[in-house]
Amino acid sequence: MYPPDCRADLHCHSTASDGYFKPAQLVAHAAAANIELLALTDHDTTAGLDEAAAAAQAHGLNFLSGVEISVSWEGKTLHLLGLDIDPGCPELRAGLGLIQQTRVRRAIAIAQQLEKLGVQAPLPRAEALAAGGQVTRTHFARLLVEDGLVTDMKQAFKRFLAAGKPAFVSTQWASLEEAIDWIHAAGGLAVLAHPLRYKFTNAWRQRMLHAFKSAGGDALEVSGGSSQQAHELETCARDALRHELLASAGSDFHSPDQRWLRYGRLAPLSSRLTPVWTQFSPSSGLT
Ligand code: AMP
Ligand code: MN
Ligand code: MN
Ligand code: MN
Repeated sequence: MYPPDCRADLHCHSTASDGYFKPAQLVAHAAAANIELLALTDHDTTAGLDEAAAAAQAHGLNFLSGVEISVSWEGKTLHLLGLDIDPGCPELRAGLGLIQQTRVRRAIAIAQQLEKLGVQAPLPRAEALAAGGQVTRTHFARLLVEDGLVTDMKQAFKRFLAAGKPAFVSTQWASLEEAIDWIHAAGGLAVLAHPLRYKFTNAWRQRMLHAFKSAGGDALEVSGGSSQQAHELETCARDALRHELLASAGSDFHSPDQRWLRYGRLAPLSSRLTPVWTQFSPSSGLT
């Protein structure tokens, strides 16, 4: 069992999805940042886990296999992390396979919209940026920055790629129940990621948490790269206690440009909470 005060970062991305670093590079950065326990959680893929696990072993860093699954709930997209999963689990593999097909279809549709807006060859260029990993909106956002249509990634989402904007394509991902079942079938725990980023009212956030718990959800990401302020930590801590969820901590690190993520320096969890990593032990890793 990992101790409650373990320096854990259980949410980050590599080039297997929309991260900047290759899995081994990401692990090297985590080790340099004095992280003690790392989980790689790429969007809808486990493709980076073998490389990350091998690098973690070389660095003497504890590692958990993870994934961030795209979920549709009440017409909104939510993100669920699966932690300490067996990537070989047939149910999980089949589920992620379906989402990957959905991603391919969505990328084609996004590219069609961007072409209408005057972007040249968006699909092959986004695929080239993804370099064999999952194609995400982040890759299209990079194209828009590259072409000078926007000044930064934030503007690319705000003006083109966010819900309701011209290149947004509404997508049906996994259901909450399906994603949690796949994670559990793979022996992992299900964490609701960045609960304050969905821009829900308090009442809707409580509904989401109730639905997550009812579907078998295990933990809430309380300490995150984008929820570091005292009042945000307190809101998430109260939510975890109220819905009897374990607590997780994850930076959602993607790239060194995101300075606000302060990789490896997450706010510690309140002692009222039970950290999700106390449920894992070094031997439970499948690496
Ligand atoms: P996708 O899963 O393909 O819809 O892409 C979602 C990803 O886009 C998220 O995981 C973030 O990495 C990125 N993203 C979403 N909104 C923004 C934003 N406003 N600024 C920068 N990146 C964003
Ligand atoms: Mn992302
Ligand atoms: Mn996410
Ligand atoms: Mn993420």
